[in-house]
Amino acid sequence: MQAVPCACRMTPVWRPSAPLRSLRELGHGLLDCLLPPHCCACGERLVERIGAGRLCRACRSNLEVLPLGGCLRCGEPAGVEANGQDRCGNDHRALAGLAFAVAPFRYRGTGGALVRSLKLKGDFAALHALSVAMVEVVSVRLLGTFRRPVLVSVPMHAARRRRRGFDQAELLAEAIGRSLSLEVAKGAMVRCRETIPQGDARVASRKQNVAGAFAVARSSTLCGKSVVLVDDVMTSGATARECAAQLREAGAHTVALLTGCRARHAAGVGTS
Ligand SMILES: [Zn+2]
Ligand SMILES: [Zn+2]
Repeated sequence: MQAVPCACRMTPVWRPSAPLRSLRELGHGLLDCLLPPHCCACGERLVERIGAGRLCRACRSNLEVLPLGGCLRCGEPAGVEANGQDRCGNDHRALAGLAFAVAPFRYRGTGGALVRSLKLKGDFAALHALSVAMVEVVSVRLLGTFRRPVLVSVPMHAARRRRRGFDQAELLAEAIGRSLSLEVAKGAMVRCRETIPQGDARVASRKQNVAGAFAVARSSTLCGKSVVLVDDVMTSGATARECAAQLREAGAHTVALLTGCRARHAAGVGTS
């Protein structure tokens, strides 16, 4: 296998040998005859397959990819000072309690469409596209204390999960765990009460909206461990901070955040 760079983060990071490639292409051809591929962001029927991510050209051009090699704390594009330290200029207080936060895509444009396809329709292709990209960005950060972290998804309230039938953050954590052979601590954390979605206009304070909303149900699986918290999107960071505080109180050594997308505000750490 030969490693190949991937600018869009939606194609495999390896290229199979020629015989395997032929078999894979034959398989894709047969599958495309039976199930014509559709763009996983807008649903448009594709006339050609573009990588494993299945994006149409318009959605591909509207996908804002956050560059690898950004600020080691917030992941935003950063310059480097003379002493070698990252200098992103962002206010990192939004990441209180988090060792770092990374995401492959900006929420605006196609990134948001992928999250909505996953969240609202349970679209498997969107799940695949997001999880492949998340694996790539987090892989380069799995060093030191984070070499073998435990994955914990930001939990959905049980009643909402019953209504929706799935928890998209848990699906992402499971896909990432399978890909990186990392433990997923399912059910380790719970949402104790239903909260209004953070983007809803009724939410006056995102911090208050999630205050006390989470609890660790099984601290034994997290005690002394490094935890990567997984969610579909980072908006204000209030949810991640609240979860991180609970995880640390339950004994987690360090907590970091991995999301599929990140919103950006005029001020602060690319958050909304
Ligand atoms: Zn599209
Ligand atoms: Zn930063």
